[in-house]
Amino acid sequence: MSGHPPAVHRLLAALGDAVFRLGRETVKGVIRDHLAQLRAAGGPFPEASEIIGQLKAKLAAMARPSYPPVINATGVLIHTNLGRSPRLPVEAPGYLALEFDLESGERGERLAPVREKLCRYFGTEDALVVTNNAAALLLLLAAHARGRQVIVSRGELIEIGGSFRLPEIMAEAGARLVEVGCTNRTHIADYRKALSPETAAILQVHRSNFAMTGFVATPDTASLAQLAHEAGVGFWVDQGSGCHVDLRPYGLKDEPTVQELLAAGADVVLFSGDKLLGGPQAGILVGRKQALAPLRQHPLRRALRPDKSALVALAATLDCYLSGDIQRVPLYRLLAQGEAQLKERAQRLARQLQAAGVPASAVPTQAVLGGGTTPGQGLASWAVALPEAPAVARALRLGEPPVVCRQEQGKLLLDLKAVFPEQDGTLAVAVRRAWAYEST
Ligand SMILES: *Cc1c(COP(=O)(O)O)cnc(C)c1O
Repeated sequence: MSGHPPAVHRLLAALGDAVFRLGRETVKGVIRDHLAQLRAAGGPFPEASEIIGQLKAKLAAMARPSYPPVINATGVLIHTNLGRSPRLPVEAPGYLALEFDLESGERGERLAPVREKLCRYFGTEDALVVTNNAAALLLLLAAHARGRQVIVSRGELIEIGGSFRLPEIMAEAGARLVEVGCTNRTHIADYRKALSPETAAILQVHRSNFAMTGFVATPDTASLAQLAHEAGVGFWVDQGSGCHVDLRPYGLKDEPTVQELLAAGADVVLFSGDKLLGGPQAGILVGRKQALAPLRQHPLRRALRPDKSALVALAATLDCYLSGDIQRVPLYRLLAQGEAQLKERAQRLARQLQAAGVPASAVPTQAVLGGGTTPGQGLASWAVALPEAPAVARALRLGEPPVVCRQEQGKLLLDLKAVFPEQDGTLAVAVRRAWAYEST
């Protein structure tokens, strides 16, 4: 402790790395602000070496990328705050032939390549891509149902967070919502009674983020499709999750896939690109040409058009499925990690950490798919458990790379379900560092 702060030029000289990365003026500013804070706190100044340590920590945080890659040890595979599905390593530097036909040298159609792949993969006539699924629903409603009625079951009037509330999207699109049935039970007769010359469509919505059990009933998709078509109105399914493969081999319950909903008679099925499709943020509409053509002409479409990086990533994701190699999609590589493998990894990590003096143990856990895709269902997983210590969780988050874990039953859990096996070594180092840092 001393009465005077060290001179700014002395501190600058000790922070050469940061000066190189952030520039002299920025570092000077940080030093001045830090010294002002210390002065305002009153009391004697810490030693110069301690001040340099504090400044190094501040400057390191500033030098981080704005969206740093993290190790996801939360056990939530589709984690909304961590970017939903893990990214495919596709890079698109510089220019690309986005709307350009190389053959003719003329303007091309931006969506043509992904549209062709979507049609081929889902076996459908037509497909359209917008920024996200909320936008897909907005565009569908605006193009077909402005000033007209759309029938929805009271059991499907969902809010899924981030201010997506079905009745509000309807109102924004200018469609009139006609609610039918009760919260727990809706019958085909309820829909039939609600049909009128004003009806544009029947909309079925996936119960994302919640599950209903007990005295519940919903008509099956095929009966609803038949009713809609006999009445000459549209039948749309907001499936949301993008489930497109049988999830049972991964230890989950059977969920209707996009392909099954189309086969059951849906004119349009819409879903997110970054949930179970394992791709980038996007809203995907697949279905009949006649149903999608008005969306293509609609002025809102331009406002909702996807970015080139999203299209590149979406095309690459679809290529994996079309080639039959689902394991190339990072989400499915994680899902395919079975309980035995996860247990072995957790035990190996726990042993390594114990040898380094960290009180770690391997414990069985329940991971989840997340993103509202399979509400109420767990996935058997394993974690490395540490005694609960909020300071360690914080040190892990602020480490390099950042590690995000979860706290449960008085323990800190590093769930391995969403951690790629090749990250285990890095994870072990990060835990050792965070533990040592917090226990000194
Ligand atoms: C996730 C979801 C949405 C919203 O999708 P975004 O891509 O986040 O806009 C809409 N409807 C359902 C049923 C969903 O599950």
